[in-house]
Amino acid sequence: MDTNSFLVGMKLETIGGVKYAELSGDQVRGRFKETLSEITSASQPNPLETFLNCGSDPTAIVQFTLSFGPLKQEPKPGSEFLFYLQEFMDAQQLLQGMWRDKSHYEKPIDLLKEHGGNYRFQKGSITYAAPTLFVQLIADLIIRPVERLRVCQQRGCSHPYFFAKHRNRRYCSDECAEQSQKDFNKEWWQTQGADWRRNQRKKVP
Ligand SMILES: [Zn+2]
Repeated sequence: MDTNSFLVGMKLETIGGVKYAELSGDQVRGRFKETLSEITSASQPNPLETFLNCGSDPTAIVQFTLSFGPLKQEPKPGSEFLFYLQEFMDAQQLLQGMWRDKSHYEKPIDLLKEHGGNYRFQKGSITYAAPTLFVQLIADLIIRPVERLRVCQQRGCSHPYFFAKHRNRRYCSDECAEQSQKDFNKEWWQTQGADWRRNQRKKVP
C-alpha cells in the first residue's frame, strides 16, 4: 500500500491566467492577467497530463504557459514573469521520472511542509490550494493511485503518460492499441511469415 493514499480524492487548485507569453531567446516572458481564476486538477484537459505529454520544444512550452501559466512564479494579478526554457524542461523530466519510477511513494510527502499552500475543508471534501502551478502538478501526481500511473506501450506514442481508468490498460487510447496490434502483425509477417508460408505449402499434398 502506498504511503500517500490518505491524499487520494483530494481536490487541487491554484490560481492563474496568462495575458500573454512569448519566446525571448532561451527564455519565456509573459504577464499574468489582471483578474486571475482557479486552475483545478479537474480542468479539462488535466494540467498534469498535459504537462507530461506536451513536449519540450519552445513552441510547446509557450503554448503550455499560455494555457496554464508559468510553473514556479507565484501568480499575482498583472505581474510579469520570466523563466528559462531549460527550467521547464528540467521540471518536466523530474515529473516524468516520478511518474515512471514511482519513487515518490517510498515516503509520505507532507505537501504543506515541503511546498506551503493551504488546505480547505468544505462539504466533506478537502481542497489543497497550491502556491504555484508546479506544486499543484506534484500534488496531482502523488495523490493518484500508484498502480494506475502508466506509460503507453505503443512505440512513438505522442501522448505516452496516461492514467489508467482500467487496471489492465497498457495503451493510452484505442488508437494506440490498434496500431500496436497492426505493428505486431506486420512484424510477425516479416519475421515469421516466410516460415509459416513454407509450412503451409508442406501441408498441401
Ligand atoms: Zn499511446
